[in-house]
Amino acid sequence: MNGAFLIRTFGCQMNEHDSERIGGMLTADGMTPTDDVADARVVVLNTCAIRENADNKLYGNLGHLKPLKAKNPDLRIVVAGCLAQKDQGTIQEKAPWVDVVVGTHALPHLLDLLRRAEEDGPQMDVAEYTELFPSALPAAREDAFRAWVSIAVGCDNACTFCIVPFVRGAQRSRAIGDVLAEVQGLARQGVVEVTLLGQNVNTYGRDVTVPGASRRPLFAELLRQVNEVDGLRRIRFTSPHPHDFTPDVIDAMAESEKVCEHIHFPLQSGSDTVLKAMQRSYRRERYLGWLDAIRAAIPDVAVSTDIIVGFPGETEEDFAQTLDVVERARFDSAYTFQYSPRPGTRAASMPDQIPKEVVQERFDRLVVLQGAISLEKARAQIGTEPEVLVEGTGPRHSSTQARTRTNRIVHLSEPIEPGTFVTARITGAASHHLAGEVVPAAALV
Ligand code: SAM
Ligand code: SF4
Repeated sequence: MNGAFLIRTFGCQMNEHDSERIGGMLTADGMTPTDDVADARVVVLNTCAIRENADNKLYGNLGHLKPLKAKNPDLRIVVAGCLAQKDQGTIQEKAPWVDVVVGTHALPHLLDLLRRAEEDGPQMDVAEYTELFPSALPAAREDAFRAWVSIAVGCDNACTFCIVPFVRGAQRSRAIGDVLAEVQGLARQGVVEVTLLGQNVNTYGRDVTVPGASRRPLFAELLRQVNEVDGLRRIRFTSPHPHDFTPDVIDAMAESEKVCEHIHFPLQSGSDTVLKAMQRSYRRERYLGWLDAIRAAIPDVAVSTDIIVGFPGETEEDFAQTLDVVERARFDSAYTFQYSPRPGTRAASMPDQIPKEVVQERFDRLVVLQGAISLEKARAQIGTEPEVLVEGTGPRHSSTQARTRTNRIVHLSEPIEPGTFVTARITGAASHHLAGEVVPAAALV
């Protein structure tokens, strides 16, 4: 197809990377990217279903596209991603001006669907194809120096609040040789940082049986092998499950010098009663014990987390338990969420859904507590001199945004080419970023 395409992405890194692959397919087909919706021949909304406001955003955006489509009947509107998988036919019922609905498993069929839409009108493919690992697609990557690499899709857990297993299916791991070949190719092109992606990334390989092999290619082994790739300087991964930070994974992290000292360790709740109702496999003391073990094995590791406030049945006492774990765990940062009932999940039909104003009040208390801890942890960085990777321009026109191995954002006052490693001296701290200045190479001993 000729002309320009525009992709709007909602949600997590998995979706961001899927958008890179959508962009890769459209570019390979002869199209060019645009930022201006008025120029676009194809608009793709790559959607998220994790919380309710994500649904609202999709239908709001489709509302804005309706008059554009009326003015320009050649415009093709595509809805992809988790909401496409979840809402399926409802999308074209509610918004008949949508040309293509493509589910998470059917992404490789996108070009075909667009071609069929040209001839035959609206198309939908939400079938669950399990034979094709979706990463075997071209990707139009955003940066030349860092890249996401998909290692597994889907999730075999059944957390009662979560829609992911419904919209992404059971876990399917990518062959270790394919992952390594992609990382090697990226490193040859100048990529210095990769982030390994999966819904439950540290159970990588558990679904794979290798003919003739006595062991499966598990996550620890993958980390060690990616660590051997020449040219690469940093390895990250997301999103892991605390239960699957097994000792072999922690050892592999500690012993692989390219694996960054940052762990995302989603708590969800600090109450054992709520964790049980969420069907999370750990309890508060176990979680804190794992955290101690990680901190003992990986000095100066930074820890981030996810917390849900207002899960059905959460009492004031349960919430106090969450605040207590947050006090004790000293997270560097936290993504805090208000519970959002997702139709079809077990939690959505549980009794004792918590009123919005109660959730909001608890949420505000949690944000204040974690904000103070994040600030205290950030201030402890003042005076240190970490290596940072420059990512782009900072908040002021002439400044730079860079990132430490521990995933802390550092604002530097001087403009520096993205993709460059420099040493920064940390001079200031806020809860969500640090300020620093470049240490001239001559000053380094
Ligand atoms: N696999 C990861 C794990 O096991 O923790 C989580 C991935 S999920 C895409 C990202 C985060 O969204 C979760 O950790 C959770 O905190 C939040 N989340 C998921 N479902 C939610 C819901 N129904 N309401 C509010 N937050 C939710
Ligand atoms: Fe959702 Fe993560 Fe639980 Fe899987 S492990 S069901 S992705 S919260």
